[in-house]
Amino acid sequence: MWGPRTVDTPVTPVAAPLIDPFQRAITYLRISVTDRCDLRCVYCMSDDMNFLPKRDLLSLEELDRLCAVFIGRGVRKLRITGGEPLVRRDIMHLFRRLSRHLGTGALEELTMTTNGTQLGRFAPELADLGVRRVNVSLDTLDPAKFKAVTRRGDLKAVLDGIAAAQRAGIKVKINAVALKGVNEDELADMIAWAHGGDMDMTLIEVMPLGEIEGDRTDQFLPLSVARARLEQRYTLIPLPDRTGGPARYVRIAETGGRLGFITPLTHNFCESCNRVRLTCTGKLYMCLGQEDAADLRAALRASPDDALVTQAVVDAIARKPKGHDFVIERARPAAVGRHMSVTGG
Ligand code: SAM
Ligand code: SF4
Repeated sequence: MWGPRTVDTPVTPVAAPLIDPFQRAITYLRISVTDRCDLRCVYCMSDDMNFLPKRDLLSLEELDRLCAVFIGRGVRKLRITGGEPLVRRDIMHLFRRLSRHLGTGALEELTMTTNGTQLGRFAPELADLGVRRVNVSLDTLDPAKFKAVTRRGDLKAVLDGIAAAQRAGIKVKINAVALKGVNEDELADMIAWAHGGDMDMTLIEVMPLGEIEGDRTDQFLPLSVARARLEQRYTLIPLPDRTGGPARYVRIAETGGRLGFITPLTHNFCESCNRVRLTCTGKLYMCLGQEDAADLRAALRASPDDALVTQAVVDAIARKPKGHDFVIERARPAAVGRHMSVTGG
C-alpha cells in the first residue's frame, strides 16, 4: 500500500546506489541548512547581504526527509554546513533526527563545517548525537585580523568553541582560506598551532563564487606559492589519502600533523568526485562550480510519498557534469553567481 512514509521508518540502503554518467558513486551529501551567518567573511559575503526569506527555506522535517531519501540510495556521509549551520533555529532538532541513521549503521558519518562561534554552546550535544569530527573555519589567529576578515567576529569565541569541541571528544580540523596580504605570512605558525593542538589543517584557495566587494584577484593566493613558502620551514611528505574531494594531503615532518591543500581552480579532483550539495531551499547542485541545479522542493512537496522526490534525485544525478568551470580571471563578474554560503562549500 502506498502511503506517506513516516519519518521514523528505518532507512535501509537499497541495491541501487546513485551512480552518475561517469560511473562515480554518490556517497556524500553536503547540506547547507541556512544561507545566514553571524559573520561576513570578506571572500564569502558582501557586507549587506540579502538573505532568503524564511518562508523559502525547507523545514527541518523536509531536510530530514530528503536526507533519508539520499541515505536510502547509498549516501554514507552527511556534512551539515551553511551559511553558519549553528545559527539556524532549532538546528539540533535536525542533528537529533539524522543521528538515528548512525544508530542503524545506514550512515557512516554525520559531520559539520562551522565558523565555531557557537560551538561552546552546542559541542556537548553534538558529541552525544554521534558527531565525531567537525571542520572549523579559521583564517587567522590575530584578533584584529580576524575581526577585519570576518567584518565582525570575536576570535575568542571561536577558540573557546574549538576547546569545547575537543573537551567533548570531537576531533577538529581547521580550514583556512589562503588570502594574499592577509594571512600568507601566518600560515606556517597556524599550522604549528593546529598540529600542536592535535588538529589537522587544510588550506583553501579562494574560489570565484558570488559577488563581493573588491576584486577577488586581490585575495587570490595560489596554494603553489603558499606551499613553496611552507617548504622553507617544513618538510612536506606527500600522503596518498583521498576523500573523493578536492584535497591533497601531506604530513609535516616537524609537527607530525596532516596538512591538506584544496585547489578547486585546478581540475585535479573532478574524476573522483563523490558528492553533491543540497541548499536550504531544496536545490541540488551536482557540481560546486556549475550553475545547473535540480529543484527537489517541488517534488518533495508534490507528494507525501518519496517516489517522486527519489526519481527527481536519480534524474539529477544523471546530469552530474564531468567537471567544473572555475577561472579566476573571470572572477568579475563572479564565475558562478551564487555565494559559497548558498551551497556551503
Ligand atoms: N560558516 C561555516 C564556515 O565558515 O565554516 C560553513 C560555511 S562556509 C561557506 C564553508 C567554507 O567555505 C569555509 O571554510 C569558508 O572559508 C569557505 N569559503 C567561503 N567562501 C569561499 C570562497 N569564495 N572561496 C573559497 N572558500 C570559501
Ligand atoms: Fe559565514 Fe562561513 Fe561565509 Fe564566513 S565563510 S561568512 S563564517 S558562511
